[in-house]
Amino acid sequence: MQLYAKRTFALDTENAFKIGPLIAKQETQGHSIIRLNLGEPDFNVPEFIKDEIKQQLDKNNTHYCDPKGLYTLREAISHQIYLSRRIQISPEQIVIFPGAKPAIGFCQQAYCDPGDEIIYPSPGFPIYESFIRYLNAIPVPIHLSEENGFTFNIEQFIERLNPKTKMIFLNFPSNPTGGIATLKQLEEIASLILEKCHPHVRIFSDEIYEHIIYENQPHYSIASIPGMEKRTIICSGFSKSYAWTGGRIGYAVFPSVEEADVFKNLNINYFSCVPPYNQEGARVALEHPDAANHIKKMVEIFEQRRDYVIQTLNQIPGINCQKPKGTFYAFPNIQELCDNLNICEFYQKLPLPIQQQTTPSTLFQMFALYYHNVAVLDRKSFGKTGSEGEHFIRISYASDLPILKQGLSHLKNAAKDVDGFKKFINTSDLYFQ
Ligand code: PMP
Repeated sequence: MQLYAKRTFALDTENAFKIGPLIAKQETQGHSIIRLNLGEPDFNVPEFIKDEIKQQLDKNNTHYCDPKGLYTLREAISHQIYLSRRIQISPEQIVIFPGAKPAIGFCQQAYCDPGDEIIYPSPGFPIYESFIRYLNAIPVPIHLSEENGFTFNIEQFIERLNPKTKMIFLNFPSNPTGGIATLKQLEEIASLILEKCHPHVRIFSDEIYEHIIYENQPHYSIASIPGMEKRTIICSGFSKSYAWTGGRIGYAVFPSVEEADVFKNLNINYFSCVPPYNQEGARVALEHPDAANHIKKMVEIFEQRRDYVIQTLNQIPGINCQKPKGTFYAFPNIQELCDNLNICEFYQKLPLPIQQQTTPSTLFQMFALYYHNVAVLDRKSFGKTGSEGEHFIRISYASDLPILKQGLSHLKNAAKDVDGFKKFINTSDLYFQ
């Protein structure tokens, strides 16, 4: 008898977290690692949120609460959705989750049967792909290509749509590429969906980075396009906009109350409810008069860092990086770097079982961590299917400038360390990952 159910190991992971113990191990051995791997703003949670949480704790608001989320918070979200997307939704269409992440797997569980096809961006947030195999559904990646500025390729989308398509994941601004969608692009996507998809096909619009957009560009949601509100799940949360990743407050807006109630029941089954004192903090985040200004200041700082990081990256021989329009990630192409360090050549010579476990950008990721004390993420951390032959890394610039300066200087050293890489590949088993 097997200990684990077959599906257990079909579930993949998010390497931004998985690499944590490797970093910790290096640190216990006396190395100081610059962490450019996590998508976590380095700012503190605004005082007005902290004050509200403290008051709520003093009021002993620490008991079970509505599994769908506090009505007051859902009301504030419905108001904010009206202001930002011009769609009128009832608070009863909204469900609060512990972060934006749980909505991804829950939606796939609730809407998809085995054999259903799920379209998602690649490179993209890894959890979209991770759950698909766990559910025996079929992953259908849309490749976001560098030549097209990592935007959604409409021709590929047309090719992939078919009667088996059940869910479509969109993520603008996008992790890891920082790409955003123009209104015209969203209109094209929407008109295809309206023309070709059954009304039960659900669009999961992950808008967690809705506020982290540069050069005063607006955020557009596909849900605002006429006809799409009834097919779209808007997912967002408080982790990025308020630098509050540990608060674990996210939400999804469903096309109907009936659908929202399905997720309320999943909440009841999995975790009963989300801490009410944090939900009150989230409500204040939406209602406080200083909130918009607070986000604006944070985004201005991210924009300065972006400009520094992209300029510096492009000065490193072998690295070519486009300027992201949103988020706090850079996604440079390291093809030439891999050539300069002979990474692809070494990769081709690895025994097949090892080759199958790694990729050239993974080898560089491990080399940068173990030999140059800087943590970044490889291409396959953002969707494995179809990522072969693509040599990219993701760098998070959610750290302050002195740290970024140091991290990029380590990367620069790694990028020219031909002998170091030779030593790494020949003497270590560190590339097993
Ligand atoms: N979606 C995307 C695209 C993300 O990048 C993240 C976090 N990295 C999430 C969802 C999850 O956010 P949360 O921490 O609120 O669960």
